[in-house]
Amino acid sequence: MRSGMRSAVLRAIGWVDDAGDTSLHRIALGTDIVEFRVVRACRRSIGIRIGVAGVTVRAPRGAPLRAIAAALRTHAPWVQEKLAVWRTRRRDIVPARWIPGAPIAYRGRTLSLDLAPARRRNILVDRAAFSIAHPRPDDEPAVAAYGRAWLRREALRVLSPEVADLARRIDAPAPPIKLSSARSRWGSCNSRGEIRLNARLVHLPPELARYVVAHEIAHLVHLDHSPRFWALVATLHERHREARHELAQWAAALEA
Ligand SMILES: [Zn+2]
Repeated sequence: MRSGMRSAVLRAIGWVDDAGDTSLHRIALGTDIVEFRVVRACRRSIGIRIGVAGVTVRAPRGAPLRAIAAALRTHAPWVQEKLAVWRTRRRDIVPARWIPGAPIAYRGRTLSLDLAPARRRNILVDRAAFSIAHPRPDDEPAVAAYGRAWLRREALRVLSPEVADLARRIDAPAPPIKLSSARSRWGSCNSRGEIRLNARLVHLPPELARYVVAHEIAHLVHLDHSPRFWALVATLHERHREARHELAQWAAALEA
């Protein structure tokens, strides 16, 4: 039974996906204490990945922690160097200042903010620049407000076709979508079949945004995280495991 009075059941993708089999550890590398996450997987070797969220080690299911620690120590200089690079990238998603040269992430690419005077407001995105034309390019609050509003419209523009396309694949009518500014959710779906997507998905690579949409569309069928739910997600997004991992890294970057 569906009733407007009853509060809707909500399923949301949090900043950190707790459905993954990850665990956090610490190791001393040189003078640094480095946190790392271990992801057990069907694989033969130990793989180290450095992202904005830190260090992730992918290891065979049976590999002892001391073997993982040894691998990290062997590659300590590389790990520390990559971590330093990522630390500087953390702030580059949404501009802290809307001034020329500020970095901004658009659909996974880091662009440089470009401001120019113009009679009419306009935004153009190319391979390297996020160019804002504005009557008062030095009026930072006005430029910021215009830029943020444009990004919200852009989020709806790029996400709507994904929602329609993925809904079609489960033979469902495209659900109405609402944009959210939730601080700690990429998306959510409730028992009334309403989907909310975080406007900040516009900053992420298209493939990750598509995964969030696929996840919420799958909730139209299964409002849980059961094996049946994940099986459906897998048919809608082939690389969903990797996408979940990368999503957690972007979440950490947005929080930084
Ligand atoms: Zn979910």
